[in-house]
Order: sequence, then structure tokens, then C-alpha cells
Amino acid sequence: MIEIRDLAFAYPAGGFQLRIPAFDLAEGERLAVVGPSGSGKTTLLDLISGIRLPSAGSLRVDGEEVSLMSDAARRAFRLRRIGFVFQDFELLDYLTIQENILYPYRISNALKLDVATRARARALAEAAGIGKQFGRHPNALSRGERQRAAICRSLITAPRLVLADEATGALDPDNKLRVLDLLFERVAAEGAALLAVTHDTELLQRFDRVVDFRDYRIGAEP
Ligand code: ADP
Ligand code: MG
Repeated sequence: MIEIRDLAFAYPAGGFQLRIPAFDLAEGERLAVVGPSGSGKTTLLDLISGIRLPSAGSLRVDGEEVSLMSDAARRAFRLRRIGFVFQDFELLDYLTIQENILYPYRISNALKLDVATRARARALAEAAGIGKQFGRHPNALSRGERQRAAICRSLITAPRLVLADEATGALDPDNKLRVLDLLFERVAAEGAALLAVTHDTELLQRFDRVVDFRDYRIGAEP
């Protein structure tokens, strides 16, 4: 699902540099990436999703060399094949949960919203235990429920890969485990791979593999 070889990246402003000799994620694999704040974990996710481009090396996602795509192709690729879950949910308050889950279809002409997709949004919400909240707005939901909605949104396009950046970081311990369980269960049901950045060492035993990112940082200390 992901194959990185001899990748180098530096922010234009200078300072931080990332060098990754080799990094792989298999289809359906659930991998945790750990490392101190500033070690480049979020930068890695931005590279994988094509939001930032490497300065050298190869980065293939689902068989495609990300830096060879046009900007439009890369955007369509990201919307269709990658799901995202963020620490702070990033749900839009003026939209209902249903509209938030279907959000990728609002912002892309490449995705067509049809009856089957609407049914899928509802089924995902039911499976996540937020079926009753479908017509409500995010501010009427608890933090745990909001993250459940964000997980549904990440899966609405049936992505091949889900990227989670500190997805459980804003939750209390009980909700953390429940949300992680939901994420694992849904990702497995969809046959997607999961790459999760996390600080939470207690969650690591649930993953297939753990990569420590400390080893990839060069340049200025964070
Ligand atoms: P992590 O997610 O592991 O905490 P990040 O990938 O966010 O780390 O950041 C890695 C390093 O890159 C940090 O030193 C950070 O200050 C720097 N950095 C992040 N974003 C930018 C940017 N837009 N421009 C310049 N430096 C940045
Ligand atoms: Mg980060």
C-alpha cells in the first residue's frame, strides 16, 4: 500500500529535514508510528497524501508514484483512496453529521453522490453507534461521538488507506479504547490499511507493527 525508498524532504524555510531509507505498509496492515513531538510524523502523512512532495526519492501509494501525478490527479487520488482522521475531528459545525460524513462528495467533482452512497453514510453511522445523531450538528455531540463521525467520514469513499494523526489524543481513556476499537473494526471490515500516528503507548499492542520515527529525523532538534 505504501512503499518509500530513499526519500528526502525539507521545508522551504529550512531547519527540519526528513530522510527515510525505506518504509513499507502492506495491504490491510495496521501500523502505528510513534516518535516525539516534532519528529516529522505529520510531515510523513502529508507526504503520503501528496499534500507535500518529496525533494528526492520514491514514494508509491497504492501502486502510484505520488510525485508523478498532476496536481488535479493527486487531489482526486487523495479524495478517493485515502481516508483521514485528525486529533481535533475537523468536522464543520454548520453541517449536520450526515453532511459531514458525506463531505468529500461536496468538494470533489470526481465523486458522485448517489443513493447508494447516502445509504452507506447511514450504515456507517449506525455501525459507529451514532445513527441517532445523523441529523444533528457536531456541537450537539460528545467528543467521542464526534470522533466516531470523523471515522465514518474517513471511510465514506471506501478508501484503500486510512491515515490517523493522533486520532484518540483528544479523548478520555474510556473513549480512546472504544474509538480505536471502532477504527480497527471498520478498517478491517473495509479491507483498508491503517497508518496511525500516536503518542499513546498503551494503545500500541493492538497494532500489527510499530515504527519509531525518532530514527528518521536529521537536522535541527525539535
Ligand atoms: P510531529 O507530527 O512528529 O510532531 P511535524 O511533522 O509536525 O512533527 O513537524 C516536524 C518538524 O517540521 C518540526 O520541527 C516542525 O517545526 C517543522 N515544520 C512543520 N511544519 C512546518 C512548515 N510548514 N514549515 C517549516 N517547518 C515546519
Ligand atoms: Mg504531528
